[in-house]
Amino acid sequence: MSEAPSARGEPAEPRGAVRLLVVEDEGHLAAGLKLNLELEGYEVDVAANAREAGERLLAPDGYHAIVLDVMLPDLNGFQLCRRLRDAGNYVPVIMLTARSSPDDRVRGLEAGADDYMVKPFELGELLARVRSALRRREWERGASRGAHDAVMRFDDAAIDFDTHEVTVRGEPIKLTQLELDILRYFAANPTRVISRRELLEKVWKLGNYTQTRTVDNFMSRLRRHFEHDPSNPEHFISVRGAGYKFVP
Ligand code: CA
Repeated sequence: MSEAPSARGEPAEPRGAVRLLVVEDEGHLAAGLKLNLELEGYEVDVAANAREAGERLLAPDGYHAIVLDVMLPDLNGFQLCRRLRDAGNYVPVIMLTARSSPDDRVRGLEAGADDYMVKPFELGELLARVRSALRRREWERGASRGAHDAVMRFDDAAIDFDTHEVTVRGEPIKLTQLELDILRYFAANPTRVISRRELLEKVWKLGNYTQTRTVDNFMSRLRRHFEHDPSNPEHFISVRGAGYKFVP
């Protein structure tokens, strides 16, 4: 396993220090967060604005997670988070804001944030959320490594996630990137019931909970590709009121 940073600018593996970036312009808040996170054993850098955060994020060591305040003097936190995601950087982001309207939560999730905390918050809760974001990141990286290691096979289908070659009953078929991403997520979570909301968040990277029809349309497409009888699915199963599960 390589120790070099990945192409996405994330650290290779969190052996040794776990590095966090705190982006917050209010000096005393930033210093307090840095101190408390360091007491938890993290290595912490502080950026006082989005421009400085951008510069730090270019550093070769990268960060394992970012605590990002929404109110910054240059770009706001939503814009910064969106830029990271647009650039293909999926480092976990926990957003901090003084505002608490549901709109802002949706906006934060749509910008690609992983979690959201409203100021003033309990320090213990923030620390728990940082730990949780780091754990999720490890699971996802583990899952995507696992999926990359082998060609996925079920029934008479074979999917190579590296080359994007897909065959069903020996015949090559063409999947879109999004269809492949959904399959990869199901492959990493076999037989677990996955909600439409989770798929929207994890595959689409959207926290827009209303457009669940989008998920249903994609599930229909996957069934047409892979099921012997798409109206009687054996692999991509609807679980009433809950979501979908993949049965290899
Ligand atoms: Ca601020």
